[in-house]
Amino acid sequence: MDNEIAERLTAVRRRIEAAGRRFDPAGRPVTLIAVSKGFGPETVAPALAAGQLEFGENRVQEAAAKWPALKADHPGVVLHMIGPLQTNKVRDAVALFDVIHTVDRDRLAGALAGEMARQARQLPVFVEVNIGGEVQKAGVGVDETVDFVARCRGEHGLEVRGLMCIPPMGEAPGPYFAHLATLARAAGVEGLSMGMSSDFEQAIWMGATHVRVGTAIFGARRQPAQPDVNRTRR
Ligand SMILES: *Cc1c(COP(=O)(O)O)cnc(C)c1O
Repeated sequence: MDNEIAERLTAVRRRIEAAGRRFDPAGRPVTLIAVSKGFGPETVAPALAAGQLEFGENRVQEAAAKWPALKADHPGVVLHMIGPLQTNKVRDAVALFDVIHTVDRDRLAGALAGEMARQARQLPVFVEVNIGGEVQKAGVGVDETVDFVARCRGEHGLEVRGLMCIPPMGEAPGPYFAHLATLARAAGVEGLSMGMSSDFEQAIWMGATHVRVGTAIFGARRQPAQPDVNRTRR
């Protein structure tokens, strides 16, 4: 089992490297975020042992049960929050995570900024974009993205690193990735958090700087099988 995870991790890293060289012989640096949601510390351990330091979780409570001990043993760990964030979880999220990928409304941006100041922990963030315009899905609207990024920076004082998206299920993701890249240029941000197990190579071809890969490294989750993508209660 441990060996299997290390081998899958190596295979994913090789595919990321190859994808980064596809249209750029020098290769583009891509951060692999290993998504460990749904798995316990015993499953994360072999990935840490293999040198993986960037991890993603989508629930504050689950991450708070799992990561403080692992982080104490592995000080280099960078923990990414990739799931919907409620304002009443912001305090715990700022204490535990190192990057937040799911900023999608002013109330959350303001709460995060206030909490970062209080804890003296300035975390970089990504703005989540509802790239497919799906009613049930989290994320700022495509048409609001540029203004919202400007407000996050200007009014809330957040360090916006880039944009994040989860394309609609069951559709070819490429055009959505390309659209996110266009929006990032318009908004003046460099980072693109896009691509999961089934489509990370395409995401890299379209400019992803961060890919979020779970299943291809850790295997199938018992539950929940789907990313938690729904809108948070406002
Ligand atoms: C679960 C999840 C992933 C990883 O999905 P896999 O298909 O297991 O690679 C990526 N991003 C988000 C937001 C997720 O919730």
